[in-house]
Amino acid sequence: MFKRIKLLGAVLLCTIIAACNQTDSAKTASNESDTKYVLVIHGGAGTILKSKMTPEKEAAYTAALTKALETGYAAIKSGKTSLDAVEATIHILEDSPLFNAGKGAVFTNEGKNEMDAAIMDGSNLMAGSVAGVTVIRNPISAARAVMEKSEHVMMAGAGAEKFAKQAGLEIVDPSYFFTQDRWDGLQKAIKEDSTKSLLDHGNKKTYKLGTENKDYKFGTVGCVALDNKGNLAAGTSTGGMTNKKYGRIGDAPIIGGGTYANNNTAAISGTGWGEFYIRSVVAHDISALMEYKGMSVAEASKTALDKMAKLGGTGGLIALDKKGNMAMPFNTAGMYRGSITFGGKIEVLIYK
Ligand code: ASP
Repeated sequence: MFKRIKLLGAVLLCTIIAACNQTDSAKTASNESDTKYVLVIHGGAGTILKSKMTPEKEAAYTAALTKALETGYAAIKSGKTSLDAVEATIHILEDSPLFNAGKGAVFTNEGKNEMDAAIMDGSNLMAGSVAGVTVIRNPISAARAVMEKSEHVMMAGAGAEKFAKQAGLEIVDPSYFFTQDRWDGLQKAIKEDSTKSLLDHGNKKTYKLGTENKDYKFGTVGCVALDNKGNLAAGTSTGGMTNKKYGRIGDAPIIGGGTYANNNTAAISGTGWGEFYIRSVVAHDISALMEYKGMSVAEASKTALDKMAKLGGTGGLIALDKKGNMAMPFNTAGMYRGSITFGGKIEVLIYK
């Protein structure tokens, strides 16, 4: 009898311990799925102030960013690659007139829309980019076509457009990219910039920082993603900067400048004053700090951004490492940004 009670007691104890262990591991799994990120996006950094935002505009940006996150997340969950997720996510942002990429791209000094985009595969360091394109509906897909269907990394202007057409991508009339908001932005920029040379390689001495970096110069989109196989990818797409000189190319299509991905370190997409990102090689700098100095993605991102800021640059970036840790620092008043975790938790933020 006494023996039976002892046995029952032991069985009960084992059951309780097993149950506790199970709740513990379930807890860890749910914690991990909420802290591990699969996709991070940005929709541009700049003078984005709550005081200047209407509730309608804020809701529209939040909805567009949320839709983009859900699209990329669905791609990853259905087993697609991080490259597929980046491309699909950026399509949503390029097709939205709210962002400075695809429809809604800013205007050059000549009143044209000249777009840049890049994509990079962290699993093999393959990369593709296009610069100064005017008739490709989704420049990010043209960048991917350069990476996958040509022996090149970067193609520009009419040649890139001819190649995109041959690759079967959608070609549109340049008027497709027109939005009244961006047109008005150009008129304002022409007036404000007429007193100085807009782009003199960002020579700090000729600029009063904070006055030139108006919101109308920002709004690029970017995405970094981590797929089920642990592969990272990054993509950036932009109309560049309002009132930029004909033929000017920014950092977005420069591999290592505004876009970079390496499975050993992180996937990065930048947004801000492109000339400074190029000169500081910001995206690759983050990867190098992680690779050679063993910095975390957050530390490396902050270090590289601060270094660029010392030259006089402004902007922000998103970065995601192979473990699903992310960073999204910026040194402007705001940055449209969002993230989605492994478990599907969405966060969309605009201001500091
Ligand atoms: N970096 C982009 C460029 O300079 C602009 C931006 O991110 O807003 O072309």
